[in-house]
Amino acid sequence: MPEPTIAADFITSLPGDPDTRNLPRQVTRACYSRVTPRGFPHARLIACSHGMSEELGLSPATLGMERFTQVFSGTRLLEGMSPYAACYGGHQFGHWAGQLGDGRAITLGEKRGNSGQQWELQLKGAGPTPYSRGADGLAVLRSSIREFLCSEAMHALGVPTTRALSLIASGEWVKRDMFYDGPPQDEPGAVMCRVAPSFLRFGNFEIHAARNETDVLQQLADYCIARHFPHLDCAAADRYSRWFEAVCQCTATLIVQWLRVGFVHGVMNTDNLSILGLTLDYGPYGWLEPYDPAWTPNTTDAANHRYAFGRQAQMGLWNLVQLANAIYPLVQAAKPLEQALEGYTRTFETEWLEMMKHKLGLHTIQRDDAALIEDLPPLMQRAELDLTLFFRHLATLPAAPLTALPTWLGEVSYAPTPLACNTDLLHWLQRYQQRLSQETTPPAARRTAMNAVNPLYVPRNYLVQMAIDAAYQNQFDPVLELHDTFKHPYTEQPGKQHLAAKRPDWARHKAGCSMLSCSS
Ligand code: AMP
Ligand code: MG
Repeated sequence: MPEPTIAADFITSLPGDPDTRNLPRQVTRACYSRVTPRGFPHARLIACSHGMSEELGLSPATLGMERFTQVFSGTRLLEGMSPYAACYGGHQFGHWAGQLGDGRAITLGEKRGNSGQQWELQLKGAGPTPYSRGADGLAVLRSSIREFLCSEAMHALGVPTTRALSLIASGEWVKRDMFYDGPPQDEPGAVMCRVAPSFLRFGNFEIHAARNETDVLQQLADYCIARHFPHLDCAAADRYSRWFEAVCQCTATLIVQWLRVGFVHGVMNTDNLSILGLTLDYGPYGWLEPYDPAWTPNTTDAANHRYAFGRQAQMGLWNLVQLANAIYPLVQAAKPLEQALEGYTRTFETEWLEMMKHKLGLHTIQRDDAALIEDLPPLMQRAELDLTLFFRHLATLPAAPLTALPTWLGEVSYAPTPLACNTDLLHWLQRYQQRLSQETTPPAARRTAMNAVNPLYVPRNYLVQMAIDAAYQNQFDPVLELHDTFKHPYTEQPGKQHLAAKRPDWARHKAGCSMLSCSS
């Protein structure tokens, strides 16, 4: 019998909503509302992350398949669970949106993992809460598959992220209008259990600032510092600015990691930015295939490209400015907040350069490194190179100076015309070869080091969409195959060439493969 899950100390430490009715409403002077998941009697387990369930001692094998499915569909509560939905607000697409909150997320409780980490267990799609604002509190299978696969893939890639424990078909239909352009369709519903040290967002702090609830804001900030930033002195007078500095740093680090693997979050609103610098809320995210900094998978953002791949660092800063405004009443001075924001930009620039050097297998310091690195992205864009495959192939570049473009470049390009006359790209590769000759690492070791930071298998949009299409025909093997393959993204796996392939032409403009809506 596993150790019971316990009530989150979030609810034992912070002010809650005294009203226990589960009705949409404004919840003031409270960080959360208690709410019971509605339950799904016909729920069925589709997939479970073994890594996560082992850490938690909560696998279907130890808990029993039936009981596991009941607990993680929100149909049965374990002893000690005290479910709640958190109150938060947010800036969406540049505008203050007021109260948002966990409209379809319900935290069951917390559990200490084998590693010693305390984990929050949260269901997504388990029914309405006081924050549902008239929506149904449910999730469709397609978006739940996307979050399940991508959050575990990101973990294996070494990118800070919330995790996934389980994916369960609710056994009920959910009505959705995928592109907001026609009559809603019935789609299969699902409940995902996701796991993180905390799901606190910038928006959890903003809502109390917006309502002038400075005492609640302070309690929440003190809780967050004591619980999640234990290296900070929680009695120090400057603790709030030190904390903000730490949030700036981990946000910069996170976005550098997104750029390393080609991830586009798609909806970097302040309600989707984790205070711990984790990738949070997988919605209309996407993976860059042809290199294009202006690309966004999110149809809602198609006109403005606000959250496009190449704007993510800037948008991280914009969001941090909103957080700085929110916590100003605690710091009561602009200078330390401004300095932390400058630190964000410095950290981002330093870590980005370092990350790019690693992608290129450069480990010594040379004067022209920055220029060599900065010259590459425009060339990749012009040649429409697949970000993932380009860096994998680059590791195989021979030492002998190139006289023509290597043939593999054509294979990793989406350009309609041959690359042969792209002399700029050839010159860059020759410069790169020249630079490699100044490295002290032997070529084989460099190749290994490059393959350890340049993944081969990533949740390409079309691969995930094909797995979703199969799941909608009750075939779950493709979801499980992707989940398994993404556990080892850097290691070539026999028989998995089809999961490392360039995007096929049919997927260029297909819904789910190149464009996604927020409807989930
Ligand atoms: P998202 O776009 O998923 O980040 O959600 C933005 C806000 O809308 C959050 O407060 C969500 O809880 C809420 N929300 C999104 N979908 C639903 C839904 N189906 N039912 C209730 N609330 C939702
Ligand atoms: Mg969200």
